[in-house]
Amino acid sequence: MLIMNKIKHTDVAIIGGGLTGLSLGFYLRQRRLSFMVIEKEDHPGGVIKTFRESGFVFEGGPNTGVIGHLEVSALFDDLYPLCELEIANPKARKRLIWKAGRWEPIPSGIVQAVTTPLFSLKDKIRILGEPFRRRGSDPMETVAQLVIRRMGKSFLDYAVDPFISGIYAGDPESLVTKYALPKLYRLEQDYGSFIGGAWKKRSREKGPRPSREVFSVKGGLDNLINALVAVAGNQSVVSGASACRVIPTEGGYAIHYTKNGQSQVLHAKQVVSTVGGGLIRQLMPFLPADELQRIDTLTYAPVVQVVLGFKRWPGKPLNAFGGLVPSREHRKILGILFPSAFLSGRAPEGGALLSVFVGGMRNPDMLALSDSAILDVVKTEVQQMMKLPAWDPDLVKLFRYPAAIPQYDAESMDRLKAIVRLQMKYPGLYLVGNIQEGIGMADRIAQAKRIADLLNG
Ligand SMILES: Cc1cc2nc3c(=O)[nH]c(=O)nc-3n(C[C@H](O)[C@H](O)[C@H](O)COP(=O)(O)OP(=O)(O)OC[C@H]3O[C@@H](n4cnc5c(N)ncnc54)[C@H](O)[C@@H]3O)c2cc1C
Repeated sequence: MLIMNKIKHTDVAIIGGGLTGLSLGFYLRQRRLSFMVIEKEDHPGGVIKTFRESGFVFEGGPNTGVIGHLEVSALFDDLYPLCELEIANPKARKRLIWKAGRWEPIPSGIVQAVTTPLFSLKDKIRILGEPFRRRGSDPMETVAQLVIRRMGKSFLDYAVDPFISGIYAGDPESLVTKYALPKLYRLEQDYGSFIGGAWKKRSREKGPRPSREVFSVKGGLDNLINALVAVAGNQSVVSGASACRVIPTEGGYAIHYTKNGQSQVLHAKQVVSTVGGGLIRQLMPFLPADELQRIDTLTYAPVVQVVLGFKRWPGKPLNAFGGLVPSREHRKILGILFPSAFLSGRAPEGGALLSVFVGGMRNPDMLALSDSAILDVVKTEVQQMMKLPAWDPDLVKLFRYPAAIPQYDAESMDRLKAIVRLQMKYPGLYLVGNIQEGIGMADRIAQAKRIADLLNG
């Protein structure tokens, strides 16, 4: 039997207690606005999940982000000492690309750029003309079209395709540059070139510049989540809130949910949804179906992450960030991260921690396989590609994400316009999260700050 509890009031209801929702709570606390985060799972954090087992510290979701926005370093400064930013060890900065049966480093200097076997001689010469090539005029141009036009096919195949796989688990043939890589798009539009534009932008920019360093959190990403919850206060974060529905009311929104078998109602002047595209329809059934259709058709790449821990690493030293596999190489994995090479305390001394990614838009059918079939694939691929003499990992964990990373494809413009129209039609309603403004952790923090500044008490 459902028991009705007393009605609560708040300035802002935040639906979803992942990084976006909790960062938003942090900024609202700074602005002294009242808020409640409503999270359906028993623990906040969303896809961020850290585990500690047998001397390994490993992530089930994201491992690292790129700082990329000033808000990220500022957030960590504000949260210190509740949690501490960890910058990836620069000694393991090298990124590897799989080509013709071996790992090749992505060139980091002019000599390597000339000698690397990753790109064709024709494209190496052609790249010299990149600053002089004409600016593109099609705002819906895909990443693949843009890269071929400006840099050449071998750069698409052996730099951009694996890079897109590493970030989006996606396909450069369907991602639209303007939405998927907006900074790259702007470089061409504003300066006419990637190479010249990057240089000119740097020299013209005044004031602090966001770092491009790779970050995690000392001891695991969930320390960031715990710090955000601690600042919010436990009473402002409701976990295990099922059957959440939002209904517009006079002067705001009523949020109905069930917690411990008790029906709850929260009245909020404003409501911010941070949930994925496909989940909004059920959460907000009052929204017009035609507009919802433009949002909930957002495609998410499915991803499986397999974490492998070795107490004694039997392979060559892992002095790199990780390796990515181009589609053209037709392997069954997307790439391998080496977290113990660039983050402290992730594996016992002399051991190693690897994260192997499988599936994505390239091989979505992999998610239909059983755990043991996926582990067989990972074993074969990792043993061959890392040239391991034997296979005896001390830790094997598998994490499935049927809807991991949103794909900002040709439907993006329609989706973004629908979001704007809905937000105008329903004042005080905000539809955010990874349905817009970037897929990375840093994007989520920057978005939370932007939205917090729009909300009122
Ligand atoms: C496997 C994987 C690897 C990744 N790797 C990287 C990486 O290397 N670098 C990087 O920067 N980013 C990476 N990302 C992306 C990054 O993790 C996300 O951008 C970020 O964590 C998303 O945070 P969020 O709060 O927007 O969404 P989520 O973490 O999805 O949180 C949304 C929350 O809403 C809750 N919710 C949903 N529906 C309801 C409802 N009806 N009622 C109440 N609550 C609800 C969910 O339970 C969830 O907790 C990765 C993501 C995945 C899945």
